[in-house]
Amino acid sequence: MRFDDLNIIKPILKALNEEEYAVPTSIQEKAIPLIIDRKDVLGSAQTGTGKTAAFAIPILQHLYNDRQDNHRRGKIKALVITPTRELAIQIGESFSTYGKHTGIKNTVVFGGVNQGPQTQAIKRGVDILVATPGRLLDLMNQGFIRLRDVEYFVLDEADRMLDMGFINDIKKIIEKLPAKRQSLFFSATMPNNIVALSKKILKNPVKVEINAVSSAADTLKQYLYYTNKQDKKSLLLHILKDRKIDQVLLFSRTKHGADKLAKHLAAKKILSAAIHGDKAQNQRQKALNKFKDGELRVLVATDIAARGIDIDKLKYVINYDIPNLPETYVHRIGRAGRAGDEGISISICEPEENVYVKDIEKLINKRIEVITDNPFPQTDRPMNNAEKKEAAKEKLARKQEYFANKNKKKDKQIKPKRKY
Ligand code: AMP
Repeated sequence: MRFDDLNIIKPILKALNEEEYAVPTSIQEKAIPLIIDRKDVLGSAQTGTGKTAAFAIPILQHLYNDRQDNHRRGKIKALVITPTRELAIQIGESFSTYGKHTGIKNTVVFGGVNQGPQTQAIKRGVDILVATPGRLLDLMNQGFIRLRDVEYFVLDEADRMLDMGFINDIKKIIEKLPAKRQSLFFSATMPNNIVALSKKILKNPVKVEINAVSSAADTLKQYLYYTNKQDKKSLLLHILKDRKIDQVLLFSRTKHGADKLAKHLAAKKILSAAIHGDKAQNQRQKALNKFKDGELRVLVATDIAARGIDIDKLKYVINYDIPNLPETYVHRIGRAGRAGDEGISISICEPEENVYVKDIEKLINKRIEVITDNPFPQTDRPMNNAEKKEAAKEKLARKQEYFANKNKKKDKQIKPKRKY
């Protein structure tokens, strides 16, 4: 399944492509078509499953398609409530990322900070509001926010919301919502009080349950190297000095990265090839056959290309990067040590990925053994927020330059020949 198969509109697909999301996660695959179909959804899923995109994408799509309705521009048509300020910010960022080519505006309100900038943003007009319950009620009571135009309502992390004592606030907010609306309700757990609350909010909901695949075979040994970003290649070559590693599936997050790695290894006389979505099917098959026949030592693959390939008795998987979705890690390492054979996974982690390791260990419920005999240990620290913003800006500028150059080349190609 690909995002293209989910009837998602082009401006959103473009943004997903730019984010280099290869495939939808399970909850996205299940929930997006239902929400596009205007069903109420009761989703049991945790953070780390991709649930934010599962509701953000179809809501953006509805708003984009409804956009012709000019006099409602700038009114709050979608409301998401979530328990914490951090989650609210992340959800707002997700709407901005997936919706960057749609022109649909969102803003975020939460407590503990001056309300001025928040109320000003609302006055300027937004389509989507992401809020924590206390501040939302406060601004409603002061008359800054009205909910009468809300058509799409999301209650996120309902169980945490109740644990944090927000039940009365939520009830007050629901009372102010129009009866005619589409509602989505997400919770990691579904105890009785949550089910009761969901019944107050949802109409004929469809249940979507995501049980994250959380464990790899016991015969699989998992190891981890912490290193710096610029040392990853050297560390990989160091690992591959071990001749026992004679057939290894090497994962790279991006297609471009996979190509670069395969070239780099080939330059170091390590027989390798890359397979990913931009390669023709026969090229992929050829590389895969060579790998299976032992003619290639390393096959570099992106997650999407690796789906569905089954390599008998594969013993080694190396993660050149740590996936941001813990489930992806489980899928990747599950390629090795199948059917009771012994397998080994080795993951290489740069500072920015340290947080992903924590998420993975939470999901698999164990610590991954760290290799300390490491000539390239991690000495850098992860970036702080300001540095991250700066890096994101630079990345965007590089991308824009890349696309501008590509378009220039295209323009040149299609320029008609001058007639004399
Ligand atoms: P969430 O469960 O919504 O908190 O999402 C967890 C992380 O996964 C976020 O960093 C998202 O940006 C990322 N993510 C969501 N969907 C995908 C996808 N289909 N492919 C890759 N990453 C994703």
